Amino acid sequence: MIDRTLFTSDHEAFRDAFRKFCDKEIAPFHEAWEEQGYVDRTVWEKAGAHGFLCMTMPEAYGGSSADKLYSVVQMEELARGGYSGIGYSLHSEIVAPYILHYGTEAQKLTYLPKLASGEMIGAIAMSEPAAGSDLQGVKTTAIKQGDGSYLLNGSKTFITNGWHADLVVVVAKTNPAAGAKGTSLLLVERDMPGFTVGKRLKKLGLKAQDTSELFFSDVAVPAANLLGGEAHENRGFICLMEQLPWERLQIAITAVASAQAAIDWTVAYVKERKVFGQPVASYQNTRYTLAELQTQVQVARVFVDKCTELLAGDTLDTATASMAKYWTTDLQCKVMDECVQLFGGYGYMWEYPITRAYADARVQRIYGGTNEIMKEVISRAMGLGGK
Ligand SMILES: Cc1cc2nc3c(=O)[nH]c(=O)nc-3n(C[C@H](O)[C@H](O)[C@H](O)COP(=O)(O)OP(=O)(O)OC[C@H]3O[C@@H](n4cnc5c(N)ncnc54)[C@H](O)[C@@H]3O)c2cc1C
Repeated sequence: MIDRTLFTSDHEAFRDAFRKFCDKEIAPFHEAWEEQGYVDRTVWEKAGAHGFLCMTMPEAYGGSSADKLYSVVQMEELARGGYSGIGYSLHSEIVAPYILHYGTEAQKLTYLPKLASGEMIGAIAMSEPAAGSDLQGVKTTAIKQGDGSYLLNGSKTFITNGWHADLVVVVAKTNPAAGAKGTSLLLVERDMPGFTVGKRLKKLGLKAQDTSELFFSDVAVPAANLLGGEAHENRGFICLMEQLPWERLQIAITAVASAQAAIDWTVAYVKERKVFGQPVASYQNTRYTLAELQTQVQVARVFVDKCTELLAGDTLDTATASMAKYWTTDLQCKVMDECVQLFGGYGYMWEYPITRAYADARVQRIYGGTNEIMKEVISRAMGLGGK
């Protein structure tokens, strides 16, 4: 195996601490959370109390000014354990960065410390029933009123952390006639009149994740809640595009960690399980299958680690991040499928982590931009037209 060079001993010490937290505060409860369809809020409060939320935010805003590798460690550990209900990464590494990068000083001071403590849970609402891949087609509107506030109307769907969320970054058209150039981001709080959270969506996997619909009916959003203030009105699409490399890389990081975990579980299982008087591991098909999967996951890990290095140096471009997202999530699904096969009938039983990991993996090719959209982005960067 190729040694990883990304992490220092401090990162590894943090990995131990975070793994202990997962063992104590997540593992014993995750199955019950899958059954109820959401995680208990206490797991957010506990993470906040341990300083595990929004670690990369500056200390002045409640974070630890940690480098992004600490978040990478968290993502890997959550993926390794199959704790797919836990929405820390989206909260800490997608929602909070929007506020840090584009928010006004008042917005940073108001929201980031509460996100870091777990007092507030964050979500981002881009997708709508009729607009997912085609975000320019967003129908939700936020029309400026005489007093400077915005009247928000529309609905969102598939929103991760949506049912628990106290703060939602909402993508809306402030100038509906201007397409992408009329898009803004609004900070919408749970108790704003007219904002309602719909049902938790029943899903193939991610059973403990509170993915929800959101509805906005004449919500009066104060001018102070336009992300970045007036200077950022109609600049929302640019902000969304700028954040894509990191958001896509996060999916790739979890894909590789999940795939490796699946291989590890399967190696242990095939050594134990006997058929025709011999361990499943003794069959050439088993050994070659696992050897092929491990080779591909190793290749993926080296590529993703390199992308992470580029990201740290601020030089990861969107096309390369899209390659990482599409290729590793395709690989993740292939690994899960082959590993389930090696578990036989037990691989179809919910009590086995491999079965849950198989179900959880499928969405990785869909969200964060579908893998077809990734190929659009890559091919455009190659100078190949497309629409
Ligand atoms: C569990 C889950 C969690 C999610 N979390 C969030 C969240 O927190 N926030 C949020 O905003 N959204 C979230 N989403 C939404 C997700 O990002 C969208 O589902 C995704 O972008 C795809 O959009 P769509 O579902 O509208 O599919 P569509 O856009 O309708 O796509 C349907 C099919 O058409 C293909 N297609 C579309 N356009 C093209 C093209 N130009 N060329 C070739 N093929 C194309 C797609 O690849 C796909 O195969 C989540 C989704 C799920 C399932």
